[in-house]
Amino acid sequence: MRAPVSDLPIHFENVTVAAGAVKMLDRVTLTFAAGPPTILIGPNGSGKSTLLRAAMGLVAPSKGLVTWGGREGVPPTRRAIVFQRPAMLRRTAGGNLRYALGGLSLDRVERNRRVGELLALVGLAQLSDRPARKLSGGEQQRLALARALARDPDVLFLDEPTASLDPAATSAIEEIVAAVSRRSIKVVMATHDLGEARRLAGEIVMLHRGRVVETAPAASFFNAPQSGEAATFLAGGLLV
Ligand code: ADP
Repeated sequence: MRAPVSDLPIHFENVTVAAGAVKMLDRVTLTFAAGPPTILIGPNGSGKSTLLRAAMGLVAPSKGLVTWGGREGVPPTRRAIVFQRPAMLRRTAGGNLRYALGGLSLDRVERNRRVGELLALVGLAQLSDRPARKLSGGEQQRLALARALARDPDVLFLDEPTASLDPAATSAIEEIVAAVSRRSIKVVMATHDLGEARRLAGEIVMLHRGRVVETAPAASFFNAPQSGEAATFLAGGLLV
């Protein structure tokens, strides 16, 4: 059997995303390749979320080109996104996952096995029969991660998944993100939390006003930022 083609690398070539006069992304050129997590940082409004949506294919460039594995207009079957506040169906935790697996031709036994595996991966095996909307915020976010992983994506986009969580719930999510990355799924995650970026990043992409101001391996970014914006941001200064 032929190996399925991958969505990776994802390449942005001179991409601008504009709404009227506002440039949410401004001439962005970058590549998300297989490997350790890429963490997008930058102040609120810098374009992190727009970049993730464009990489997912939810937002079309006004100018420039996005390619997935060298191809244009690839439907989002090999990639998944989790938002800061995920919406759950009015079903149990397990039911939400069974629904996500719905389009795949799995028999009942295989589907239940897969649901169990996904729940275990995110530490929710005991809560399979709990209505999803009755789970805590952190548990719902873990379920959203499991749901995003249901179809074996090549790449997982995470848009500030811990922004509304307490430290314990944040730590649980970060552990899952690290485990997902060890499974060779590319993680691209936006955060405005520098501590989180340090804990998870292989590579940092820093945005400011819709532009990429720096792309670097995490160690060099934090130890020796090259751009004035990154130095200011790391020093706790305000970027406006
Ligand atoms: P971040 O995720 O870094 O906070 P966003 O990608 O959400 O940044 O937003 C980038 C910029 O685009 C911000 O100035 C924001 O106000 C603006 N923006 C986001 N969505 C829209 C939209 N639908 N229409 C107009 N402007 C938008």
